[in-house]
Amino acid sequence: MTDSNYLRVTVWGENIHEKTSKAVSKVYPKGMHTAIADALNKDKTIKAVTATLDQPEHGLTEKLLAETDVLTWWGHAGHEQVDDKIVERVKNRVLEGMGIIILHSGHFAKIFKALMGTSCALTWREAGEKERLWICNPGHPIVQGIKGPYFELQHEEMYGEPFGIPTPDEQIFISWFTGGEVFRSGVTYKRGNGKVFYFRPGHETYPTYHDANVQLVIRNAAHWAKPEGKYPQTCPNIPFDKAPETVIPWGDSVHEDDGAIASVAAKKKKAK
Ligand code: ZN
Repeated sequence: MTDSNYLRVTVWGENIHEKTSKAVSKVYPKGMHTAIADALNKDKTIKAVTATLDQPEHGLTEKLLAETDVLTWWGHAGHEQVDDKIVERVKNRVLEGMGIIILHSGHFAKIFKALMGTSCALTWREAGEKERLWICNPGHPIVQGIKGPYFELQHEEMYGEPFGIPTPDEQIFISWFTGGEVFRSGVTYKRGNGKVFYFRPGHETYPTYHDANVQLVIRNAAHWAKPEGKYPQTCPNIPFDKAPETVIPWGDSVHEDDGAIASVAAKKKKAK
């Protein structure tokens, strides 16, 4: 297979807890990002690489993003350390068509908030409760291969409603926790031409990314989110004589023939 035949996934992790907390490095000795990338690379049609916050440009260079079909995002303690310029760069790639999978505490990442336009706030409790993830649509590509109407994680952080997100395009999972709360734990959106999947589980001190069902969902989601063509980001002027059908221009316009706004063009001319 050539490179272009692989689904190219970049796994982004802030990689802070792994370096500062023994509880986390015990569960993820090589970092959560490596565990997630390893899970993706079990699929021979996927080529997953990692990028982390501490790298130049957080590892998300123009070149890497141009060669990324789907980006996964795990952040928590370092949301504010993510450079706004990089957030804008990632957002533009999503609008163009790159898929993005936001994991767990990434609900409060700048990139998710920018894509949603809402608070993305929720309620939470760290008590190692059982999470039961009910499948809302058994026919959806993201849940293929999961046996049964739900799967469970024995120990997870609780996230509860209300979750400050826009109404999802599709709801894939709804979670129930031992404490009684429920949460929209798998939701999809389209932003521009990019597909967005938010997937709730993944608290740093629990072995969630070693779970077979969680790994399967992330692999399925990567395939589901792959780009479907590129969406234009500019607004080119189509002059009347280039229209598919004959157009006889009528009326005054503030635009010059080339589409520039006349008053702005005149100012520019004067400045020269
Ligand atoms: Zn957490």
